[in-house]
Amino acid sequence: MNRIGHWINNKVVLGNSGRSGVVFNPATGEEQAKVDFASVAELDAVVAASKAALPAWRATSLSRRAEIMFRMRELVDANRKEIANIISLEHGKVPADAMGELARGLENIEFACGIPALMKGGYSEQAAGGVDVYSIRQPLGVVAGITPFNFPAMVPMWMYPLAIACGNVFILKPSEKVPLTAIRLAELFIEAGLPEGVFNIVHGGAEVVDALCTHPGIAAVSFVGSSKVAAHVYALGAQHGKRVQAGGGAKNFQIVMDDAEPDSTIRAILGASFGCAGQRCMAGSVLLGVGPAGDPLQKRMVAAMDALKVDDTSANPAAEMGPVIDDSSRKRVLGFISNAKLLRDGRTGIPSRGFFVGPTLVDGMATPEEIFGPVLSLLKPASLDEAIALANRSAFGNGATLFTTSGKHARQFTRDIQCGMVGINVGVPAPMSIFPFAGWNQSFFGDLHMQGTEGVQFYTRQRVVLSRWDAAYRRQQGW
Ligand code: NAD
Repeated sequence: MNRIGHWINNKVVLGNSGRSGVVFNPATGEEQAKVDFASVAELDAVVAASKAALPAWRATSLSRRAEIMFRMRELVDANRKEIANIISLEHGKVPADAMGELARGLENIEFACGIPALMKGGYSEQAAGGVDVYSIRQPLGVVAGITPFNFPAMVPMWMYPLAIACGNVFILKPSEKVPLTAIRLAELFIEAGLPEGVFNIVHGGAEVVDALCTHPGIAAVSFVGSSKVAAHVYALGAQHGKRVQAGGGAKNFQIVMDDAEPDSTIRAILGASFGCAGQRCMAGSVLLGVGPAGDPLQKRMVAAMDALKVDDTSANPAAEMGPVIDDSSRKRVLGFISNAKLLRDGRTGIPSRGFFVGPTLVDGMATPEEIFGPVLSLLKPASLDEAIALANRSAFGNGATLFTTSGKHARQFTRDIQCGMVGINVGVPAPMSIFPFAGWNQSFFGDLHMQGTEGVQFYTRQRVVLSRWDAAYRRQQGW
């Protein structure tokens, strides 16, 4: 069976801890690879390799760093199909979803191409008498990224292109369930001209995560995953003096007004709730049909869900929705379904092998917890006020969307909803790379989000330099 090693100094290094995890093909349920898990001693070696690469990379000019990012952008673009195929194979998402995630990931490399402008400091002449002041941004050093299974390419790309472009050296700990995509992207970085040791990958689970959060050689940790682990990583990293940004889970509300455009609304909800089999932190998981919108919405949703083709994408190219990631995830999702009053039962009409659950509609709130599968709760509040109040009771705060043609409703929603990413007639309001991925509450722990200029701030620290030359110069000149 295919064995996946770590990636250190631009090559695969097989692990020696004797521990490993299984990588499944979720669409068939078959084991396709084993991934080596690092020991603490192996992690020490990765940090040492990273530290060794840091001085030269830090000293590399901004234009050279930008040039490498431009080349990486071209290489990922040229290899989109192959990379998307790897994503589908290890995650199970259909090709359209895999291509979509790659496109959003690429945006982050494009953003990092602008690093010479993004790193620019400020200068104030004569800020005090005879004193000029300037500020510069400097990299933090060795930084780590810990990522979830649901976006094998995109979520790591929220982190490493910008971190590396800022002059840091990066250690990625991808989800042990999807280690293949990360390795292929690391290979492309060699072709792009990235020197040895600047981008390293270490595999493993909770033990490696804790070791990264406590390692004295690591300056900062970027994390994305469930809220429980995000809170743990945030606290542990901070306790050990690290800068931490940690994205967590979510429960995202979609509100439909009676005046919404019917067809595009159904299409958007279908994509938001069942794309990637509902395994997105921005997945629409609660649907609120306001007043007279409620009953027709239910009817149209059930019809649209019935028409959705759920299958193994490699066997059936027409498939529109794939499986969930593994059997324990499938069983967890089925647990929520078995306790709920169903308007559409996703346990029927699905392939007999693989980890499939079909699109499911629940009458009422299935649970306030994140389900992370293709399960949508339907509620029918009487008014927009009631719908917003309901959504605002959630502990999470990633995204929410309103479907309407009324500017008045859109304005009220945009002002009053308590979350960081808001959609108006946009099913998945995940911001482009020029804006921060701005989760609130239990969906984010930290101050500076990933993406955009907040990302640059996170991966750099500012130095302010004050200089006075005139007195010394005058003395020297004998004035
Ligand atoms: P997860 O929390 O189980 O795992 C995320 C990472 O943490 C993995 O690399 C894993 O190895 C590690 N990990 C798991 N358990 C750990 C523990 N006890 N201690 C230390 N490390 C641990 O998440 P997942 O199942 O891989 O991904 C799905 C979750 O990620 C969902 O909750 C989803 O909403 C969330 N997510 C959030 C965002 C966001 O931007 N907020 C984006 C994508 C996914």
